[in-house]
Amino acid sequence: MMVPKWVRDEKETAYIIDGKTKSNVPICALGNSVAIPSHGLTAEVIEVQSIKALSDLGTEKIKGKIVFFNRPMNSEKIETFKSYGAAVDQRYAGAKEASKFGGVGCIVRFMSLRSDDFPNTGNQSYGDIPKSQYIPTAAVITNAANLLSEKLKKNAHLKFYFKQSCKQMEEVISYNVIGEIKGSTHPENIIVVGGHLDSWDLADGSQDDGAGVVQSMEVTHIFKNIGYHPKNTIRVVLFMNEENRGRGGNKYQELAQKNKENHIFALESDSGAFAPRGFSFETDNANMDKILSWKPLFEPYLIHSFTKGHSGSDIEAITSTKIVKAGLRPDSQRYFDYHHAANDRFDTVDKRELELGAATMRHCCI
Ligand SMILES: [Zn+2]
Repeated sequence: MMVPKWVRDEKETAYIIDGKTKSNVPICALGNSVAIPSHGLTAEVIEVQSIKALSDLGTEKIKGKIVFFNRPMNSEKIETFKSYGAAVDQRYAGAKEASKFGGVGCIVRFMSLRSDDFPNTGNQSYGDIPKSQYIPTAAVITNAANLLSEKLKKNAHLKFYFKQSCKQMEEVISYNVIGEIKGSTHPENIIVVGGHLDSWDLADGSQDDGAGVVQSMEVTHIFKNIGYHPKNTIRVVLFMNEENRGRGGNKYQELAQKNKENHIFALESDSGAFAPRGFSFETDNANMDKILSWKPLFEPYLIHSFTKGHSGSDIEAITSTKIVKAGLRPDSQRYFDYHHAANDRFDTVDKRELELGAATMRHCCI
């Protein structure tokens, strides 16, 4: 498939100009953002908590300013993915919305539950606004977002400077990577296990989603090691381009449909390498009741949190009449310490927890 290619190029620079004081702020351009010319962008800042707050303020208060989205992830929710889901609209659509009210730039508090100094990024989209209205957008690390917010309370007219050289290049060809064990009784029935190969550029992406890639491959490896030949076909799919448009998932579905393939189950691991707790399932009530009846088999391993909910974005496009989709759900308390950040590295992965996750996926595919 063809995939978008966006490059960061030179490291970004940013600082707060408060009277005669300049405070450096580590920022990172958001994926697909436009660049800023070499002289940089300097403007006053307006802090908002939500996209709705923008329209309440209106063009008069926003025009010519850098819009600063500073709504933190809600730390009161135990499921951190829910807090992320409730905060990520600022990153994804903040620039597009700020531009509609005459904003000249957009900076967004990074989605993390801890205060830290690790630069981080993620996807954003200008939607259908004309290219001439694209404004540069970047993520501000949590400590710097707190600093900027405090300073703004004392001086609403302080200025923010930032510069970034990112570029949108021509699309390039890329690939999903697929391997399978043909089923012994029902080779026509396909079970997909997968994760995604691409990651953001600041680190190697070990948690997002190196872990899912390794665990998916490990499912077939475990079957081989224990001499188990699955009745249905087990297909490992390492998807490309999850982070920046989901082209790998879409291409997979396009070919599956063309080849009239019958998928009965799809399982994705894209929530980090942490200790597994269970699965979230996308299915109807009748199937869910059946799944819940198997819960006692999972209890001895403490992987029996079975809920209804989103499975995974790579398998989102897969449709088959009787398909059940699921996502591996590990403990989520530390995931957003690393997600899309410069510290999402191999040394954050605990080997035992990673292996437990793979074994949990295997448990679900027999
Ligand atoms: Zn991911």
